[in-house]
Amino acid sequence: MAKEITVHSVLNKQKRRDDWFLCDYSMNPYEGCQFNCVYCYVHGSKYGEKMAEGIAVKWNAPTILDRQLKARAEKKEYGIIAVGSATDPYMPIEEERQITRRCLEVILKRKFPIGVTTRSPLILRDLDILREIGKSAILPEDLKEKGIPGVIISSSFSTVDEQVAKIFEPGAPRPLARMEFLKKCKDAGFMVGANFMPLLPYISDTEESLDSMVRMAKEHGLDFTFVSGLTLYGDGPADCKTKYYKALEANFPELVEKTRALFAGNFAPPGNYQGKLDEMARRMCEKYGMRYHILPAGRKS
Ligand code: SF4
Repeated sequence: MAKEITVHSVLNKQKRRDDWFLCDYSMNPYEGCQFNCVYCYVHGSKYGEKMAEGIAVKWNAPTILDRQLKARAEKKEYGIIAVGSATDPYMPIEEERQITRRCLEVILKRKFPIGVTTRSPLILRDLDILREIGKSAILPEDLKEKGIPGVIISSSFSTVDEQVAKIFEPGAPRPLARMEFLKKCKDAGFMVGANFMPLLPYISDTEESLDSMVRMAKEHGLDFTFVSGLTLYGDGPADCKTKYYKALEANFPELVEKTRALFAGNFAPPGNYQGKLDEMARRMCEKYGMRYHILPAGRKS
C-alpha cells in the first residue's frame, strides 16, 4: 500500500541547464518507483536519502506545483521541466491516482515546456494533454531558435536484450514494448528519443549490443539517442551497488571481478570510459543516420 505524503515543494530548479535533457527544472509526482530496477541510482545515492520506504504519493503535488509555476511564470522564468527524474511518472499506481496527469494540467495552464522520461506505455493515455502542452509551451529563446519543441518524450534502456532486461529490470515494461510506445508517440507528432543509460559494463556496453540498440531506435523512427554508463552507490542491502553485484553473481559470475576492477572502488568507471561510450555511440548513430543527443552541437563530451 502506497503512503501519502504532503509536500511543500515539488519543483526543483537546477543550478544550470542540463545539457543532455535541456531541462532547467525537475519534478517528481511520486517518491520511489514500482519498477524496481536492480541498478536504480536512487537507491544508495544522495537522491534517495530523504525518501520514504516503498512508494509514496505526493497527493498535493498539483496544488504546490501550480503555486510554484505561477511564481516562476510571473518572473518569466520559463524552462523545460524534467518530469520523472527520480521516479517513473507512469508507473502502475499512476493509472489510478493520476497525480502525473493532474500535474500536466497545471503545466499546461502555466505554459511550461517539458521533457517526460518513462518506461511505461501508460503515457499514451495523456497524449491529448501533452499535445496541448506542445502547442502552448513558452520555451527559452535560445531553445526556441534551435527548434526544440515544447514536449520531448524519452525512455531509458540499459539493454534491448529481453533476457538481460528480465534480470536487471524485472518490474519494468520490456524494451520492445518501450520502443513500440515511443513509435506511437512519434507517429502522434512528438519528438522522441531513447536514453541508453545505464549501459551495463561487459553486458550492454559492447559494440554488438550498442549496434542493436541504435538500429532498433532507428527502426522505430526515434529522433535522438544518447548513452551513459552505470553508477553504483551504497553498501546497504537495498542499495543499488549491493543489488547489482548480487544479480551479477547469480547470472554473470564471470563478470564480478572485472566489474569491480573497472569501478576500482568508485561510484562510476573512470572518465575515459564515458568518452569511449560516446565515441562508439556517435559511430553507430552515423551508421544508422540517428541524431546523437537532443542538441548535437551543444553537447560537451
Ligand atoms: S524505471 Fe527508472 S526510476 Fe524506476 S526503478 Fe527503474 S531506473 Fe529507477
